[in-house]
Formats: sequence, C-alpha cells, structure tokens
Amino acid sequence: MADTTLMDKLVSLCKRRGFVFQSSEIYGGLGSVWDYGPLGVELKKNVKDRWWRAMVHARDDIEGLDAAILMHPKVWEASGHVAGFTDPLVDCKTCKARFRADKIQDAQCPQKPSKHPGEHTTCELTEPRLFNLMFKTFMGPVEESAAVIYLRPETAQGIYVNYLNVLQGSRQKVPFGIAQIGKAFRNEITPGNFIFRTREFEQMEMQFFVKPGADAEWFEQWRELRMAWHHALGLNPAKLRWHEHGPGELAHYAKAAYDIEYEFPFGWNEIEGIHNRTDFDLQRHQAASGKKLDYFDQAANERFVPYIVETSAGADRVTLTTLVDAYREEQVEGETRVVLGFHPSIAPIKAGVFPLVKKDGMPEFATRLYHDLKRQVPAFYDDSGAVGRRYRRMDEAGTPFCITVDGQTLQDGTVTVRHRDAMNQDRVAADTLAAWIKERTED
Ligand code: ATP
Repeated sequence: MADTTLMDKLVSLCKRRGFVFQSSEIYGGLGSVWDYGPLGVELKKNVKDRWWRAMVHARDDIEGLDAAILMHPKVWEASGHVAGFTDPLVDCKTCKARFRADKIQDAQCPQKPSKHPGEHTTCELTEPRLFNLMFKTFMGPVEESAAVIYLRPETAQGIYVNYLNVLQGSRQKVPFGIAQIGKAFRNEITPGNFIFRTREFEQMEMQFFVKPGADAEWFEQWRELRMAWHHALGLNPAKLRWHEHGPGELAHYAKAAYDIEYEFPFGWNEIEGIHNRTDFDLQRHQAASGKKLDYFDQAANERFVPYIVETSAGADRVTLTTLVDAYREEQVEGETRVVLGFHPSIAPIKAGVFPLVKKDGMPEFATRLYHDLKRQVPAFYDDSGAVGRRYRRMDEAGTPFCITVDGQTLQDGTVTVRHRDAMNQDRVAADTLAAWIKERTED
C-alpha cells in the first residue's frame, strides 16, 4: 500500500521550509510545475554539482556541454521523436479523467472508493490513442507550420549533433563521453507524485562514444559506476535496485537497457536509465543531415560510427529521492523530532550558528563567527527561542552541524558543535571551525 502520509508530510515540509513551491501558486498553481525555494535550490544544485564532479571533473575521458533547449526541427524528425515520442492515452467518458494506458495499475480512479481506472462498474474507458509528449511552439513572429519548433524532451540530442565539435575541440579520442545538465520538457499525460514526474524538469545525461564491439563492456562498467554514485550520495542501498527492460519494453533502437529504481512511498520507480543505444542516433543524424558523423581511428586506420552508452538521470527525481530517503521522525524526550538526514555534502545549509543567550558578548562573537563561516560554507544565524527549538529547525532543514557560542567560548575561544544525527556534542576551536566543517561536508 502506498504510504501517502509520508509524501503529504514531505510536500508540506518542503513548502513550509522553502524547498519546493507550486508554480504560480497565487493563481491556483500550474499543473505539475514546481519552483525551488532557497533550501531546494541549494539541495538540487548540490546534487547536480556532485554529478558534474563525478562525471566530468574526476575523469579524463568526459567533456562537458551546454546545448540550447531549442534545436532545428529536423533533429526531432531524425531522432524519431516527431513520429514516435508518444504515450498511449485513455479517457474515461464517465469521470473525464485521463490516464496512461501502460500505467493504469499505478493510477487511481477519481471515484470513491479508491480503485484503479476501469474497475468501477460505471467506468467507461476509451481505446488507447497515441499522444505526442513534445511541447510545440513557434519561432519568429508568424505562427505557421513552417515555424514550428519544439522544447527539447531530452538533452541527449544536443550531445549527438555536437559530438564532432566536442571531439575536435577537446582532442579526445574514442572511447570518450559528453556530459550535460539541462532542462527538458514533456507534456506528460499523468504527471504527479510531487516532483517525481513533472512537465518541466532537468536531466543529467552522459553519452559515452565507443567502438562497436566494445559497447557491452562499457555498458556494464557504466551500470556499476552509476549505481555506486547513488550509493555515495547516501541513499539507502536496500531501497535501490535494477530493473532490466524486457523485450516488450526495450526501445526499438536499444540493445540493452537497465533502470536504477528507488522504492518511493508510492512504489518502485525509475530514477536513472542506462542504455546501450548502438549507433542508431548518429546513423539517423548522418542520414538526415547529409554530414559524415563517423570517427577515424588513427591507430587502427579505420572508420566507424561509434556506438553510444547513455546514462540519463533526472536532477529533480534524484533530488526527490534524497528528500524521501533522508526524511525521518524520531521520539526525543517525549517530542517528535523531524530530521532530514542528508549526506552532509548535499545538505543545503552546513552549519547553524547560535548565541546561547542574547547577552554577555555572545551575540557579537556569534555574528562575527557566522559572517566568517558564511564566506566558506553555507551557514544560517539563529538567535530566536530556546536552543532546543533552534536545533529542531535546523534538523528539519537537514543541517548537519549546529554551533553554539556559550560562556566557555568567551574564556577559551571554543564553541559547542552539536551533530544532527547522533545529537552528541564536541568542543571545537572557533578559529578552526570552517576547516573542521569543510572536512566533514565536502565529498
Ligand atoms: P518514465 O518511464 O518514468 O516516463 P522515461 O523512461 O521516459 O521515464 P527517460 O526518457 O529514460 O525516462 O529519462 C531519463 C530520466 O529523466 C528518468 O530516469 C527520470 O529521472 C528523468 N525524467 C524523465 N521524465 C521525467 C519527468 N516527466 N519528470 C521528471 N523527471 C523525468
């Protein structure tokens, strides 16, 4: 049974603490579009930064790219998206709701009691019809068919059409990869589950170009590396698993595909796909553009169109995963403590700084310390209410360390550092604090 209570609590915490808000809320909200508030933007940025460091900075064989969202419309014809980027849509003539025919088992009929669509005697579902998920718009002042362009539904095509530019500019050799983080848009039929499935989202995609024949080995290597990345993000390994695409699910061009799935309160769902796309994309763009997209391997004196192993993760979905995985409630001294136990490297705020009381020079010391710290790590100053209350507010924001300036600080220059998870305390010299925190929050 789906744990909707946990999702409700998380959505409400996200709004209350400034992680995620509904888009255009004062106008009643825009369906499945969300805005990231002060804490959310830091969290998502930290997830993306970790990905970029692991995929680009830490490797010699991957280059970064930032391609435009708008692309020549022929890209989407060649890629197969105009003809085939569709989901099967069914309407219910009784309640007027719409569902994805392939996800009926995950959907709820709006009629009570709660059942799957089609299970009430009054349900009247239409035959499935195919619905293209690409958002269309017009380029230039005239709204005519010749001016139609699309908001990209994936970032990958920007990588394929630039692969020779990157290769030449960077002097890489196959095997090598191109990584990109960017917005994608899909007019999803049944978006939902908060930021799990939205109409505007960000992808973190890497396309790895290899010699045909070397693809199977690279595919296995990338599967291993990507699962290890999610583990290193601090996600509970027991809630991660592989899902292999069977013959009915496999895209027609793919040789093999695996999803990394996470056990959300609403069930096991994909957070990242690893695909062996063969030479399908480059062959299609070569044929449609008339430009040669093959690679000359000087050492072997041969030409070939590279195969591509793709790793494609949603930045918003992974951010949601970190929130769900981190959320916990504990009973402490008869009260419920809500904690977001993030991996310290992705916590939006690394340290809360408090004066124990608002007198005896403590606020002055704490303010100086806070300003000094803030230049080096994201920090938050709080002097309102009892220290216990301030701890709880930082626990809810996922802040790993709370620093209290107290009477002893004024005598020996040390501060109390309280740890979020174990709630134990240390004393640390204030002048070494920034380095102490960095050491524990950088990955
Ligand atoms: P699904 O089956 O959930 O629709 P998909 O197989 O179409 O996903 P891909 O095209 O493989 O997804 O996209 C790669 C990644 O992009 C997904 O693993 C997911 O993390 C993210 N993603 C795809 N669609 C959405 C969306 N509508 N909202 C948020 N993230 C998305």
